[in-house]
Amino acid sequence: MTAPGLSIAVIGSGPSGLYAVDGLLRKLPGVRVDVIDRLPTPYGLVRGGVAPDHQGTKAIVRQFGRTMGKEGVRFLGNVEVGRDVSVDELKGLYDAVVVALGAYEDRRLGIPGEDLPGVHGSWSFVGWYNGHPDFAGLNPDLSRPGAVVIGNGNVALDVCRILAKTGGELALSDIAPAALAAIQAGAQGDIFLAGRRGPVEAAFTPAELGELGHLSRARPVVDAVVLPEGVGDVDGREKPFKEKNLELLRGFAAGDGDQPRRIHMLFWAAPVAILGTDRVEGVRFERTRLEGGRAVGTGETFDVAAGLVVSAIGYRTAPLDGLPMDGGVVANADGRVAPGVYAVGWAKRGPSGTIPTNRADSLAVVDLMAADLADAAGGKPGGAALDALLAERGARVVSFADWEKIDAAEVAAATDPCPRVKFATVAEMLAATD
Ligand code: NAP
Repeated sequence: MTAPGLSIAVIGSGPSGLYAVDGLLRKLPGVRVDVIDRLPTPYGLVRGGVAPDHQGTKAIVRQFGRTMGKEGVRFLGNVEVGRDVSVDELKGLYDAVVVALGAYEDRRLGIPGEDLPGVHGSWSFVGWYNGHPDFAGLNPDLSRPGAVVIGNGNVALDVCRILAKTGGELALSDIAPAALAAIQAGAQGDIFLAGRRGPVEAAFTPAELGELGHLSRARPVVDAVVLPEGVGDVDGREKPFKEKNLELLRGFAAGDGDQPRRIHMLFWAAPVAILGTDRVEGVRFERTRLEGGRAVGTGETFDVAAGLVVSAIGYRTAPLDGLPMDGGVVANADGRVAPGVYAVGWAKRGPSGTIPTNRADSLAVVDLMAADLADAAGGKPGGAALDALLAERGARVVSFADWEKIDAAEVAAATDPCPRVKFATVAEMLAATD
């Protein structure tokens, strides 16, 4: 089918949005796609979430850049849906709207003390060291020893690793310079990585867990007593990963490196209170056991002193006027939200999976869209009308060519092997487009 008269708006330029764009161009040749992002920079989580020392993962932007450069695709950066244009207006202007907003709000711990200074959600903490302009001013106080990272997923591992690496180990990264300086100057005390369930239930993937065992200044410490003989009755597809995790943890338990810092891996430890009066001083944990797959408290508690707490317990999609919500995601049935409105990625299914997971997921939604739009006449006003509306409202739209100038300036500011020095603020990014 060809679709020369169709125009589609994609809200969000992260992986799920750009995999959808790629699919739309293939399924609906001739379609015009406008990719709208609230930041002047594209690529969503690849730029703002993927760890700065995982440059191999970030290389996917080359593929996404090719998609953005294709005939019929435009980038409208620095345009915030909900501020510069509403979802309802986009519905009126485009034949279809794809919501690829991601999940950019921290889940709350829901325990006393979580709003004390020194407690950060991983969205803001990761955003800070990744140079996300929303968090340039976070300025976490790292001067006191002891850091607790709550959660047993890959984001928790990322946070531990970035806190533990030396400047030399972070040379080949695009960590925000201010964050690098603050982390290196900060207290170099022990780090506690806490999971509310056991080693087999941890959500880590082996490659990421294994990285903790190769740090020059820190080493993971695991109490062998908590490690079971085998992984037990787990889903067949997950079994090899769980077994590999267990093998790595056994290696950590047997390890005796002389690195000065320790990353204590605490299992069966659910946080029940953040301790402190004016700022965080520690975390109270309750020991847990498994009941029907869930962590339940045993009543026994213990405290860990800490000057910094980062909770890495998952994210939710922030509500946006015009979109129905269902818990932490946009309410949808296989990606269909409402006639002409679709959701993909974390906004559709919640914060799970790696970047490639989004490809199949977005392409499945594109298949539904192609079926729904098969008889669409097209003819909605599309991008020209959005341009007029944004101009009327004085929006400063950043094009893909503008982004390429920002990109080139960031790369030019770096010294080998550092791949780029990110601009800290939107104002600096915009100045680079002049
Ligand atoms: P995640 O994998 O879902 O892990 C969240 C962790 O938080 C789980 O251990 C969970 O424990 C725990 N948790 C949730 N609520 C809690 C509470 N109230 N108290 C204590 N612990 C709590 O989420 P994520 O680490 O944010 O990662 C999101 C997705 O991105 C994942 O699919 C991840 O693999 C992916 N990712 C991949 C990479 C990579 O490939 N390098 C890097 C970063 C992220 P329970 O299991 O008990 O609920």
